[in-house]
Amino acid sequence: MSFDSNIPPGPLSEKWTRYRGTMNLVAPNNKRRIEIIVVGTGLAGASAAATLGELGYNVKCFTFHDSPRRAHSIAAQGGINAAKNYANDGDSVYRLFYDTIKGGDYRSREGNVHRLAEVSRNIIDQAVAQGVPFARDYGGLLDNRSFGGVQVSRTFYARGQTGQQLLLGAYQALSRQIAQGSVEMYNRHEMLDLVLVGGKAAASSSATC
Ligand SMILES: Cc1cc2nc3c(=O)[nH]c(=O)nc-3n(C[C@H](O)[C@H](O)[C@H](O)COP(=O)(O)OP(=O)(O)OC[C@H]3O[C@@H](n4cnc5c(N)ncnc54)[C@H](O)[C@@H]3O)c2cc1C
Repeated sequence: MSFDSNIPPGPLSEKWTRYRGTMNLVAPNNKRRIEIIVVGTGLAGASAAATLGELGYNVKCFTFHDSPRRAHSIAAQGGINAAKNYANDGDSVYRLFYDTIKGGDYRSREGNVHRLAEVSRNIIDQAVAQGVPFARDYGGLLDNRSFGGVQVSRTFYARGQTGQQLLLGAYQALSRQIAQGSVEMYNRHEMLDLVLVGGKAAASSSATC
């Protein structure tokens, strides 16, 4: 059954919300019985592992590098887009959605991109709360700039180190879950294949160093 066939029909802008409202939930007591493998600890993997650990799942997290902080996400310099409309220049969730679909050569999943545009406004505040030092204007408010050829100022940045600072934030959240025992970290491990044993997934890996 495909992802789409699980979602009741309706407007694209509400697709993700409809999915979340109708998907099957895992009972809190059952979460500890489920093991989840996360491959990679860039901004995507580190955030996913930390979030799933916080939700109560047992997470095994693999990274090729000696530390989760070494992912390619560290190279992102320009900033992160959020439709906060702080510059009052006409930005909106729809405009960020549209620009992102266009920037992705119309190949992205529209429902997911709309969700990204919706949560973009909260992500900045969440990252600030985690300690990410976003640039501020002289009045102390979060600064932003126009980036990537768009007509509005919606890119929040931390000098030329946005990816590095965000990754440190994600790493802290991940470290907390590692310390609590909900995430088991496998540094210097390359995930090679997924092996099924008795119908269940088992991880196959080789140490790289
Ligand atoms: C130079 C540069 C500048 C950028 N600037 C911006 C910007 O300004 N704004 C913006 O929004 N985006 C920017 N991007 C894009 C953004 O950085 C990436 O889209 C994003 O960081 C990808 O995150 P990720 O977690 O998916 O992947 P990654 O950060 O690449 O993390 C993937 C991790 O998985 C590991 N891995 C992969 N396969 C395996 C395996 N089999 N076993 C174990 N580990 C594995 C890798 O080693 C890596 O650590 C930029 C990208 C680059 C390269």
